Amino acid sequence: MPLQLYDTRTRSVRAFEPLHPGAVGLYVCGPTVQSSPHVGHLRVAVAFDVLRRWLAESGLEVTLVRNVTDVDDKIIVNAAAQGCTPWALAERCTREFNAAYDAVGVLPPTVEPRATGHIPEMVRLIQRLLDAGAAYPGDGSVWFSVAALPSYGALSGQHPDAVQPSPEGEPGKRDPRDFALWKAARPGEPTWETPWGSGRPGWHLECSAMAGKYLGEQFDIHGAGIDLVFPHHENERAQTVCAATADGACGEGAEMARWWVHAGLLTTGGEKMSKSVGNFFLVSDALAQARPQVLRYALLAAHYRSGLEYGRDTLAEAAASYERLETFVRSAPGEPGVDEPGGVWEAFTAAMDDDLAISRALAVIFGAVSSGNRADAGERRGWVGVVRRMLAVFGLDPVSQWPVADTALGPVLDAVVDVALQARADARTRKDYAASDAIRDRLGAAGVVVEDTAGGQRWHLAAR
Ligand SMILES: [Zn+2]
Repeated sequence: MPLQLYDTRTRSVRAFEPLHPGAVGLYVCGPTVQSSPHVGHLRVAVAFDVLRRWLAESGLEVTLVRNVTDVDDKIIVNAAAQGCTPWALAERCTREFNAAYDAVGVLPPTVEPRATGHIPEMVRLIQRLLDAGAAYPGDGSVWFSVAALPSYGALSGQHPDAVQPSPEGEPGKRDPRDFALWKAARPGEPTWETPWGSGRPGWHLECSAMAGKYLGEQFDIHGAGIDLVFPHHENERAQTVCAATADGACGEGAEMARWWVHAGLLTTGGEKMSKSVGNFFLVSDALAQARPQVLRYALLAAHYRSGLEYGRDTLAEAAASYERLETFVRSAPGEPGVDEPGGVWEAFTAAMDDDLAISRALAVIFGAVSSGNRADAGERRGWVGVVRRMLAVFGLDPVSQWPVADTALGPVLDAVVDVALQARADARTRKDYAASDAIRDRLGAAGVVVEDTAGGQRWHLAAR
């Protein structure tokens, strides 16, 4: 069964078929680099990282474009409040976002375009929209005419007449529903010269220009958090669809994205985690409480389209689940693809192909752990192998993706702990329980947790 993927625009799950066989173009709206990342940002990034990994696992070559919005109202306002330039703030926050993505194992995009590096592409796009009769200059700005596109609202389900006019009185705008492609210069703001005057781009225009440059005017999947469906994605779609219409009338030709995929939001106390509400947890704080792979597990353990409540116990619960997986994987030296028991990978694949049904996929993984724990030592290797293969799809294989030490010290640690555990086993054989406990306690003090199981001693590193 090919991947069945939910599309927001058609409100249906459809069999995924790439525009170009064997390859997928995926555009994910990246951060507006105005402040430090919180775990809500990471939830969306991890959701699309799992989709990207599953597409690759399915044999497709993925081109992932994730932009950086580095010119924006909020960046200008926050920089002024902090007494620095918008550039300095954007640069610092960009580094923080990338460090957060790296920390939890979000693979880097194929290309990470910055809005400020694509002004010529945006100017060309504005010109095409003017030529198509879908835009007009007014008072130093350039506006998109919502009335030009009959299907405006099709993505979000909003009728054009129901679109709320923006609250600010904006000079030069003919219809309150219209939105700015280009914003006239204001004192003290970063600006660029254009045929319509100096100013800066609107946010929606930035993504249309960058998606078009790297993926073309029609591509496979456009993604982001569900909060960006309206107005951001509705406006992106309107711009790109109209620019692609050659005859001067915004037609219903090629859709910008064949699938619009939206991740559910992280909530705290039932409310969207956001800077403006103030109910956010910084990534740096979360990583002080839990290992990065535990945070990653916590963020992907719910279906990507559903909301995910993040509270005080979230990381502790994730740590308990993930440690169970780690302990099992470290109980035998199984390799993915070697002596795997039949039917497990197939069940996992069926779950993932069903719009990434994470709960079912995790149930297959934990079922395999239970079976492996009941198996003898020889068979257990095969179970460990298939569990590692499934976890790798989530970026959570404790061996290859999260080694105990990702330096040359990893094998040394393994060997030293093995020596200590052998000494402990010897002490127990001669009934010297004081010596056995002392070894366990000293390892524990160093962060190595030893468990006695029916299958012998097992160890893992303690959660921070
Ligand atoms: Zn965007």
